[in-house]
Amino acid sequence: MSARSWSHAFLDLILPPRCFGCGEITSDHHTLCAVCWKNCTFLSSPWCDSCGWPFPFDTPQQTLCPSCHRLPPLFVQCRSALAYHESSRPFILKLKHGDGTYLAPGLGQLMLRVGQDILSQTDLLIPVPLHWRRLFLRQYNQATLLSNHITRQTSIPTHTDVIKRYRSTPKQGRQNRKDRAANVRNAFAVPPEIQPFIAGKRLTLVDDVFTTGATLTECARVLLNEGAKEVRALTLARVITSQ
Ligand SMILES: [Zn+2]
Ligand SMILES: [Zn+2]
Repeated sequence: MSARSWSHAFLDLILPPRCFGCGEITSDHHTLCAVCWKNCTFLSSPWCDSCGWPFPFDTPQQTLCPSCHRLPPLFVQCRSALAYHESSRPFILKLKHGDGTYLAPGLGQLMLRVGQDILSQTDLLIPVPLHWRRLFLRQYNQATLLSNHITRQTSIPTHTDVIKRYRSTPKQGRQNRKDRAANVRNAFAVPPEIQPFIAGKRLTLVDDVFTTGATLTECARVLLNEGAKEVRALTLARVITSQ
C-alpha cells in the first residue's frame, strides 16, 4: 500500500465517510446510505424531451410535456437529478443556506449521472449567479460549487463572470409561475466584454433547484440574445408540479 493509501485508510478510520443525507457511516465518501438512496426520487426517463418533467407512464421518445407544448422553453434541454421533496429538501437547504459546502461533491456527482447527454454537448458551464449582496452574505454560490465539481470530473470549464445578476430579486418561495417570470425579468445581463467569448458556444446553466424554470429561462434569453449557439440546463433538484 502506498503512503497516500495508508494516509487515506487512517483518515477513514478516525473520520469515517458519512451519508450526506442522514450522517450514517457509509463505505464511500460523498454518497448516500442505502436508506436515503431509497427515499430519494431520482429522475429518469420517461420524461419530457425538453424540460425533463417526468411522465408517470411510458411515452415515445422526444415527447414534450403539456407546458413545453404550450410554450417551448428557450433552453434546448434541462435535466435534474432529484425530485425536490421531503427526502431531498434537508440536504439541498443545507447546501444552500446551512454552510453545507462539503455536500457539493456528492450532490454534484448525482448531477453528473443524469447530465451525461447534456454535458457531451457543452462547451462552457455557467452557474446561475446570485446578486452580489446575497453572495456577500452567504459567502458562496451553491450553483458554482456544484458546477466546479462537474468541471473537476469532466474538464468542461466553469465560468462565473458570463452572466451578472444586476437586480436583487425578492425570494421566490411562494410565488407562482407568472409571478416568478415577472420577478426575474431583466434581472440578468451579459457584460459587453463577455459577448465575443460566448458567441457560437453551447452553454449549460447549472443551478441547485428548478422550480418553475423562470430563472433558467431568463438566463437562457440573455445568453441567446448575446449570440450563444445553444443553452441547456442541469440542476440538482426539481420541484415536480402537476401540469
Ligand atoms: Zn442516509
Ligand atoms: Zn417539458
